[in-house]
Amino acid sequence: EAVAKAAAINADSGAPTIIDKIVSKEIPSTIVYEDDKVLAFKDINPQAPVHVLVIPKCRDGLTQLGKAEQRHGEILGQLLYAARMVAEKEGILDGFRVVINNGPSACQSVYHLHLHVLGGRQMKWPPG
Ligand code: ADP
Repeated sequence: EAVAKAAAINADSGAPTIIDKIVSKEIPSTIVYEDDKVLAFKDINPQAPVHVLVIPKCRDGLTQLGKAEQRHGEILGQLLYAARMVAEKEGILDGFRVVINNGPSACQSVYHLHLHVLGGRQMKWPPG
């Protein structure tokens, strides 16, 4: 448990994450949607037939949703709109789920805010 806690503290340090390398295209990804502020790409370990991550290209302090400030309002809105664009492009506009895991108890593993867009199958409620 101590190791897990240390990993969680370390994860939230604001250090660069894998998402920086995806934005810089150092690590390849399958891009679904992109504009000047937002990038959406396929999750490498999909939990549904459609599983896309939507991220702000510039993290700007948003390691996680819990760090959001009022000044982030515009980018937060843009991320939700991009999630809707992803759903349309992927043909799941009639039924999809948007998830943000915030912090260790929600199993957040990458500390650069990202929205999961999931669909293409019947989703269950409540989620785990
Ligand atoms: P969790 O790992 O518990 O899902 P997060 O909400 O932090 O926690 O999600 C990080 C997501 O990033 C995971 O769904 C993981 O599969 C995805 N991921 C990790 N590395 C890559 C990569 N190189 N390309 C695409 N997706 C990735």
